[in-house]
Amino acid sequence: MGIEPNTAEISSNVGSRNENDLFKQLRARNKGYVENFSSGELTAPARQEIAIVTCMDSRVNPLDIFQFQLGDIKVIRNAGGRVTDDVLRSLILATHFLAVKDVLVMHHTDCALAFKSEDDVLKGLPVQIQESTTKQQFLAMPYPDLALRADVKAVASCKLIPETVSAYGILYDVRTGLFARVI
Ligand SMILES: [Zn+2]
Repeated sequence: MGIEPNTAEISSNVGSRNENDLFKQLRARNKGYVENFSSGELTAPARQEIAIVTCMDSRVNPLDIFQFQLGDIKVIRNAGGRVTDDVLRSLILATHFLAVKDVLVMHHTDCALAFKSEDDVLKGLPVQIQESTTKQQFLAMPYPDLALRADVKAVASCKLIPETVSAYGILYDVRTGLFARVI
């Protein structure tokens, strides 16, 4: 019973997304951007020498939060702002090639992965995924504070990131816009 409605809903959602409408909208939005675009001379290194690792949550905008401009910082995002192997890959490159000297791991309040176990996350997904033999780690955070500390430690202890690079952990509050340093 649980499978049928879910499948139908997913299919109809994908089917109803009109490709032409999507790109029409994207072109219109980009046109407005290009009209005021003046950043063509920027270079790739992070001008402020900072990288922020954060969640993909659409309420979190690192550039806005700290009033940074295009070209100022590197932003690496994924679900939860977790420091995965791929985040380390980006940080190794960012610190060696792109001027990054400070790394901020920024988690946020009301994160969909916070105060949840892997099982909790899995239970919210379609039955096909729950029963799939393909196991996916979601990096849920039953203890968000510990997760943030572990993520900062993962950056700090990465042997391929220069020892001179500093790593910090901060928490952003989606209700107030304020951040607090945790580690
Ligand atoms: Zn989040």
